[in-house]
Order: sequence, then C-alpha cells, then structure tokens
Amino acid sequence: MNRETVIGLEIHLQLKTKSKLFCSCSSDYIGATPNTNICPVCLAVPGTLPILNDHAVALAVKIGLALHCSISDNTRFHRKHYFYADLPKAYQITQYEHPIAVKGYVDIFAEGKEKRIRVHHLHLEEDAGKLVHPTSDGRLTGAAYSLVDYNRGGMPLSEIVSEPDMNSAEEVIAYITQIRQLARYLEVSDGEMESGSLRVDVNVSHSNPDGSLGTRVEIKNVNSLKSIERALEYEIARQNKVLDEGGHLAQETRLWDDVAGVTRSMRSKEGERDYRYYVEMDLAPISAGSEYVRKISESLPEMPWEKLDRFIKEYSISLEESLRLTEQKETADYFEACVSEGAPPIKCANWMHMEVQRILHDLSIGINDFPVPAAELGKLIIKVEKRELSNTQAKDVLAVMVEKKASLQDAVRLSGVSDGKISGAALEEAVKKVLDSEPEAVKAVRDGNDKKGAKVKFLRGLVMRETRGSADPAEVSQVVVSLLK
Ligand code: ADP
Ligand code: MG
Ligand code: ZN
Repeated sequence: MNRETVIGLEIHLQLKTKSKLFCSCSSDYIGATPNTNICPVCLAVPGTLPILNDHAVALAVKIGLALHCSISDNTRFHRKHYFYADLPKAYQITQYEHPIAVKGYVDIFAEGKEKRIRVHHLHLEEDAGKLVHPTSDGRLTGAAYSLVDYNRGGMPLSEIVSEPDMNSAEEVIAYITQIRQLARYLEVSDGEMESGSLRVDVNVSHSNPDGSLGTRVEIKNVNSLKSIERALEYEIARQNKVLDEGGHLAQETRLWDDVAGVTRSMRSKEGERDYRYYVEMDLAPISAGSEYVRKISESLPEMPWEKLDRFIKEYSISLEESLRLTEQKETADYFEACVSEGAPPIKCANWMHMEVQRILHDLSIGINDFPVPAAELGKLIIKVEKRELSNTQAKDVLAVMVEKKASLQDAVRLSGVSDGKISGAALEEAVKKVLDSEPEAVKAVRDGNDKKGAKVKFLRGLVMRETRGSADPAEVSQVVVSLLK
C-alpha cells in the first residue's frame, strides 16, 4: 500500500526588537524577575490600546522576502480568543486572513538531494506569558498550584507556516536548520531552540490510499532537533500501527514527553470556530507599499545559499567545505578576511576546519570569541606557505596567540621559532620530504654505497632548493646526515 508520511511545520521565531510588539516594554526579559517587564498594555488593563512596533514589521518583511514570499500591501491583525492564564486579554493579537507575507518557498538539502518546501504564509503575532508549575521533585505534573510570569507576554513572534511538503524527519531537520540559518543571517532572531526563540509545532499525517491528505496530528513541546526527530519517529510508527490495524486517527494535539519518549494526547484539535477570530479594531490595517518593500529588499544581505555557491566558484573549494564555512555568517566572514590577506583559500578552509575548530571546541566558544584576528591567521598561513614555519611550528604559534592573546610577531618570538629562517622542526620536515621522494639515493647511502658522498651532496642540494635557500647550509648538512643514519 502506498502510504506516505506527510509533515508540515509551524515555526515561531522571536524577533530581535528592542521592545515588545504592542507596547514599549523591553524585549530583554530573559532572567528578569518575574512580572517586572510588564506594563498596562501587555497586562491588558482595560482602556489601554496597542501600538504596533514598526521594527517588528520590517523584520517580518525581511524574512518574508528572503523566503521568496509576496508581501501583502493590505495586512491586518485579528484577535484569536482562547482562555488560559498566560494570556491576560483572553485573546492573542495575531494575523489571520491578511498575513504580512504569503506564498513563498525555501530550498533544502536532505537525503542527498535538493527539495523545495513551499511556505504557505508568514504572520506576526504576540507571544503569551509563561506558566510555571512548581513540583517538589521537578516533575511536569502533579503541582499543587501554578505561577504565571507575564514578562514574555507581548513579545513579537513571526510564525512561518509551511505547506505539508516534508516526508521524513531528515527533511524536517534540514528545513528547520535552513530557517534558523536564515534568521541568523538576516539578524532577525537568535533562532535558539534552547532559549525558546525558535519554537516548532510539528504536524504529521499519513496519506490515504487514494493519495489524499490524511488526518493530521499536531505535536507540541518539542524543544530540540533531537526531540523532534524522536517525536517524529514515535508518532509515525504510532500512526502506521493504528492505520495498519484498520483504525482511525483523531485530529488532535499531542504533547511530546521527552523522558518517556512518547507523544500523549493533550486535547482534540480546536476548530477555527473555537477561536472566534475577530478583526482587531484597535489597530489600523497596514499598507507596506512597494517603496517600503523595495528598501527592505535592497537591505537584505547575501543569502546563505548564495554565499554557498559563490564560495565554491570564487575559492574553488568543495561543496562540503563551503557548507561548513557558510553555516554561520561569522565563520564565512572570518574565512574571507583570512583569504583577503593573501593566504590560499583552500589552506584557510583547512586551518579553520581543523585547528580553529578544535580550539573553539576545547574552549567551548564560538568564532566571534576566537581571540586571533582573521588577518593574523592569514599571515600565519602565509608563513607556512613560504616555509618560514613548519606546520607543527605554526600550530604552536597559533596556540600561543590564543593562550597569550599575542600578536603573530610576538607569538613567533615567544614560541622560540626563528622568523624568516627555516630551521629546527621546519627544516626537518623539509629534509624528510626530500628523503621520501628519493628512496633510491637514500637506500644507497644507508647501504654504504656512497663512498664519495655524491648522493649526500645531491640530497643536500634538493633540500636547499626545497627551502628556497632560506636554510643555513651547515644546519642542512647536519640534519641530512642525521636523518640518513
Ligand atoms: P493550526 O494553527 O490550526 O495548526 P495552521 O494552518 O496554522 O493551522 O497550520 C497548519 C499546519 O499543518 C501547516 O504547517 C500545514 O502544512 C500542516 N498541515 C496541514 N494539513 C496537514 C496534513 N494533512 N498533514 C501534515 N501536515 C499538515
Ligand atoms: Mg498549529
Ligand atoms: Zn508592556
């Protein structure tokens, strides 16, 4: 039977604005004492009115354009009613029939091929507060009372609703990763699942035998890529089992329990009627206007996929290398600054992938906090290219630059390698390379068949050529002789 898994996602991105969506409360609420980052507007005191944060609109338009959406020139807000303690107005101001951006797409790369995922629309909405259910043992259920913190209430969110175009967990992860990368490139959101600035609702169903869409289940409470993967695996198996046994699935919202590794029915899915959508009369419709959209469109940075292609073409690096380098804009910028010093791109890519990556990992820091400026790394790589430093020496020098926050010049001095002259380990490396390339001559010398010393002289000459004359001839002789023993 031809039954296919069908998945559509709703991704909420918390927008990087200075203030909330409809009031002037700070958006910097994380870690604040509960209920201190609030005002009459976001607490829904009767008589207060919302004022739209235009920066949030600009950020949403940015994302919309990057997702190849059409930007609406007549967008407005609706009230979505539901009754819950984290929502003081008892309705959420969101968008319904007139979202700010519609009909876009994003290309993802999964299972070895490219695939286009359509974006149904993108809209703006306010976030709710947070409920805390304290239990003495840290469990999620069984609390004797609940606490509410409205600091997050009214924060600006942009919800990106995909078409049900994904068919596997791998595609889902690729799509989320792509949206997260985009949000970071555009600097519109941190896109962090851990802190909740990127949240995903996963809709899963299985197609009917006639190919039509089946009943969907919405999974909430998936707070990491790993739990999304596990939740999907569980839910796909559960749905298949029900369908195999001839049963029917209910359209419902299920909660992922990360500890038990199961999804549990939370509630049957609200129908649209339950929300009693209603035009938000306190906010006028917005007409973005082509001039406004053009300005924002011109301010868009190079997109990750554009950078990916450009790096491959401009720097002759592989797709894998380009993927690694462009994953984060900061890494890509660092790489380009390094290359602009004149270091070969492929070498810069290698150094960044191996040494820099290792140091970042060891220190648990990101590229932004890497203490060595890109230009200095570029100069260090050039020194290796010119054979002024061996690879090993260069790594030592880099370690000193990181540890002592030293300049390249100081680090070279501090690590005791001589600048300009090839000696010590660098020279040994060069000699070994020459000896490896001349096995016959080496064998002759070692077997005692070089009585006149012609072969040693020949090898010494090769070393001088290899080091382009920047090694001390006496030291060369000494190293050649000792390595020939
Ligand atoms: P709601 O807010 O009620 O969940 P939305 O229209 O905002 O509704 O979101 C619907 C989401 O569910 C979209 O991402 C869409 O792609 C997805 N979806 C719709 N139908 C299916 C289906 N049969 N299987 C899987 N996903 C679906
Ligand atoms: Mg939904
Ligand atoms: Zn407020």
